Amino acid sequence: MIDVAGVRIGGDAVVVIAGPCSVESHQQLLTTAVAVKKAGASMLRGGAYKPRTSPYDFQGLGIEALKILREVREQTGLPVVTEVMSTEDVDVICEHADMLQVGARNMQNFALLRRLAMIDKPVLLKRGPSATVKEWLLAAEYLLSGGNSRVVLCERGIKTFETETRNTMDLAAVALVRELSHLPVIADPSHGTGKQSLIAAVSRAAVAIGADGLIVEVHPCPERALSDGPQSLDFAGFEKVMRGLREPLRQLAPSTPEDFALGAQA
Ligand code: PEP
Ligand code: MN
Repeated sequence: MIDVAGVRIGGDAVVVIAGPCSVESHQQLLTTAVAVKKAGASMLRGGAYKPRTSPYDFQGLGIEALKILREVREQTGLPVVTEVMSTEDVDVICEHADMLQVGARNMQNFALLRRLAMIDKPVLLKRGPSATVKEWLLAAEYLLSGGNSRVVLCERGIKTFETETRNTMDLAAVALVRELSHLPVIADPSHGTGKQSLIAAVSRAAVAIGADGLIVEVHPCPERALSDGPQSLDFAGFEKVMRGLREPLRQLAPSTPEDFALGAQA
């Protein structure tokens, strides 16, 4: 079990981390934090340094976003997680955030992993888009063997030949790493699918297969988001996902009437 400023990941309860892909303004983050907390999230996410495929896309507000994250953390009490892309930013991010995320593209940035092994903050280690489970666990090993035992794994989908979804969510890997490792594992249905409409179903499936938590992108107005709008939920959508997580799974159909009769006699 990993303690993130009082939130325990890897215990009995499923931890939901929610928030925007990128921090865009104080107002945007605060309204989102209040809404997701009300719906049942126990941690806040928000990117300050964004790993964008194109250098012409929004790169994140950097230090300004870190300050916003810290303020909103103080206003709402929600611990925050944000991505670190470079060893240069580790110290300043540690001053502002409760947990540091290693993004999928940096899973095998060994210099970054070695540096994060020496910090006194938990790390959320996302699986690389083309990484095997073994490579992912060995990346975690860099953190553990270097002295940081507070590591949470995150399955966020991998690259396959499928093009209808942004990535292919490898749910079996969630169950597999729980077999192979003692580390908690959470699932990211937002990057795992790239589609708002699939978040509810994949979230339920991830919890059913044993995920210790979820990280979900939520934005006050997804159409206007500066990054990852198509996979971001609005507040009502997130509320619905949370409600779905509280619903029991469907019942199994009964087997044959004969079996029932036998059961009744026993
Ligand atoms: C993110 O969390 O916004 C992100 C960029 O995630 P990933 O590294 O999984 O693509
Ligand atoms: Mn994103």
